[in-house]
Amino acid sequence: MSDASTLRPVRASTIAQWDHQADVVVAGYGIAGVCAAIEAARAGAEVLILERTGGWGGAAAMAGGFIYLGGGTPLQRALGFEDTPENMETFLLAALGPGVDKAKIADYCRGSVEHYNWLVSCGVPFREAFWGEPGWEPPHDEGLMYSGGENAAPFNAIAKPAPRGHVPQFADKKIGRKSGGYMLMKPLAETAESLGVRVEYDLRITRLVVDDDERVVGVLARRYGTEVAIRAERGIVLATGSFAYHQQMIEGYAPRLIGRPAAAIEEHDGIGIRVAQALGADLAHMDATEVAFFGDPQLMARGILVNGRGQRFIAEDTYPGRIGQAALIQQENQAFLVIDEASYEAGLATETATPFFRQPPTWAAETVAELEHDMGLPTLALQATVDCYNLHAGDGIDPLLGKKPEWVRPLRGPLAAFDMRGCTAGFTLGGLRTDLDSRVLHVSGAPIAGLFAAGRCTSGLCAGGYVSGASLGDGSFYGRRAGIAAAKN
Ligand SMILES: Cc1cc2nc3c(=O)[nH]c(=O)nc-3n(C[C@H](O)[C@H](O)[C@H](O)COP(=O)(O)OP(=O)(O)OC[C@H]3O[C@@H](n4cnc5c(N)ncnc54)[C@H](O)[C@@H]3O)c2cc1C
Repeated sequence: MSDASTLRPVRASTIAQWDHQADVVVAGYGIAGVCAAIEAARAGAEVLILERTGGWGGAAAMAGGFIYLGGGTPLQRALGFEDTPENMETFLLAALGPGVDKAKIADYCRGSVEHYNWLVSCGVPFREAFWGEPGWEPPHDEGLMYSGGENAAPFNAIAKPAPRGHVPQFADKKIGRKSGGYMLMKPLAETAESLGVRVEYDLRITRLVVDDDERVVGVLARRYGTEVAIRAERGIVLATGSFAYHQQMIEGYAPRLIGRPAAAIEEHDGIGIRVAQALGADLAHMDATEVAFFGDPQLMARGILVNGRGQRFIAEDTYPGRIGQAALIQQENQAFLVIDEASYEAGLATETATPFFRQPPTWAAETVAELEHDMGLPTLALQATVDCYNLHAGDGIDPLLGKKPEWVRPLRGPLAAFDMRGCTAGFTLGGLRTDLDSRVLHVSGAPIAGLFAAGRCTSGLCAGGYVSGASLGDGSFYGRRAGIAAAKN
């Protein structure tokens, strides 16, 4: 954990000697950092990346690789899906939570096709294939999937459903070990280095350096216990990731994630946020979190999810991250999956990208009444839920929560239930407030001179809701903006 007294910016006049110097200095060599570096170098700046670990990649290289893009990308069009920036914007405004940065969402949707083309021009490969099954990610190298509940209730009635989860192709992909995120980072890192971007590894930024006008002109870092001073002639880009691993920040801002960080790396200790806060930076949506739910979507879509009172709470065929948020935030982490034997067998016969989420059931019973008893639910709590579900399922509909007819079937015969209490974990989405040029904003609303940021140390598109791909999406998109703006500074 950072010691607050070491976070305050230091005056440039106190630096006896600069160890490194560049026009644009980027802290963090993950997705936001690499995109900032490429664009700054292309804009003619001399660029230096400072990376705390021994290699490029960050969380991005370990990621599943979804990049949320739409509005009619060549991949969407090649696969027969119609989409427009306006349609994408309507969906994101509905899905990403109250208080979203509307200007950022509009900007992102309008720039999305260009961003796709930019990624492709940097060598990021996308295979023209669509994966349409319920799932966390495609099990093979398919390039496109629904990744935010676009085709499920309530959003399928708000905007025209279009898949926007774009996944870089990785031949011989192995989920959790060799996923699409690596094939996003590798060509981008190669592009950066072909442009002459320099990198210093094993170097951990600790605080900012300002001149007498409070303009950011450098950064201090530590390498093997020694302090290193780096001068930035035009600007610093903070791209050091989230605060998922800063215990005090999690307790203070996003306490639902206490003890349950996921889809993040331990280097995500909030340092980029802290050093900018120490200079008066504003923050946004610090309580917003992505939430994974450790269930197999193929089974969830076929069963019903109930809360601690035995009541359904969400259309089970939606984006599993939305299920995770609903379970953790609205149902106090109480969730059970109830499924009949026939649907269980049918689900098991399908392919999934997450076989490790297929655990044996916690309970099995011949009747709903028995199952309800074994689960410790009050008499009739689950029976009433199943009766109501079955009544309408007999007609192939789900008027309560709007699950799509293709997944609605009465629960009959022997049943099983999975205890999914506590099956949630996630990463933080809040951070520094930035403008469309990725300038870090002071609490007064004015940009802090010389300071730019992107990725999960900033508040990006999401204000509470989440779609898979938003993180690599806004990190890469606003990373580019940060590089361009810093180079022009
Ligand atoms: C298993 C997994 C699956 C995921 N799947 C997806 C997905 O499909 N789609 C999606 O959008 N998101 C996904 N994510 C989340 C996504 O990878 C991150 O949110 C995203 O990489 C954040 O981008 P970033 O540039 O802010 O951070 P990163 O990509 O993590 O880069 C930050 C870099 O900063 C470095 N750093 C940290 N502190 C310092 C310091 N003091 N000095 C110098 N360098 C420092 C880190 O070492 C790291 O290299 C996934 C994450 C994981 C782990």
